[in-house]
Amino acid sequence: MNNCLITEFKKCTKCNETKHVSEFIKSARCLTGVTNRCKLCQLQMGRKSRMKNLEYYRERDLYWNSKRDLKKINNRPKTITQKKQWYEANKDRILQKKKQAYNNRRDIIEKRIARKLLRKQILIRRRIHQRISMGVRRYLRYGKQSKSWNSLLGYNADDLKKHLESQFKNGMSWDEFLKGNIHIDHILPVSFFYFDNYDSPEFKQCWSLENLQPLWKQDNLKKRDYLPDGTRASQVKRKI
Ligand SMILES: [Zn+2]
Repeated sequence: MNNCLITEFKKCTKCNETKHVSEFIKSARCLTGVTNRCKLCQLQMGRKSRMKNLEYYRERDLYWNSKRDLKKINNRPKTITQKKQWYEANKDRILQKKKQAYNNRRDIIEKRIARKLLRKQILIRRRIHQRISMGVRRYLRYGKQSKSWNSLLGYNADDLKKHLESQFKNGMSWDEFLKGNIHIDHILPVSFFYFDNYDSPEFKQCWSLENLQPLWKQDNLKKRDYLPDGTRASQVKRKI
């Protein structure tokens, strides 16, 4: 090793060029710590020799490769307990490797997660839009007449999303909403209101944010047209 430091440059015995020691192969057998021939010459000689004795080298490779494979197989932990023991013994190294792999791919993974989240947000907004759009159309005698519901109601899917989210309770989430387990419910049922077109004042009251809440599907089915005080909307006679 010391020799290596003393002679920073060395002459190759093959090509006679003086080169830096880093261009020689390290060898403990040689006094200078590196081989007498430079890497390039060593490589060329190796190639030449291989081309001359192709059969011999092929057989030799085969022998050593099979021997190496056999060693791998023999060293492989055989039972589950052995595998577990091996894992425990090498845990830190494995986790470190995984962490390194994650860090290397972090950008890609984070971008993928961001894209997934964005897609989900878009999907939630679209579902809200569809449900309100369909609901509004269903209860208007002449339909929406090609008007968008948000222009009729004065809020949009984002506003409604925020409003509903602020009322989430008992494990409610947008995942459950997307699964169809959460309905957008009218606190005072639609049948409580009197309107047949979107200019009716009660139309806006019926569909106002204050009258909408997230409700579990089963609760909504149970609720039907009951008012908060327990009476049924269809049995309430109101003066218009
Ligand atoms: Zn050389």
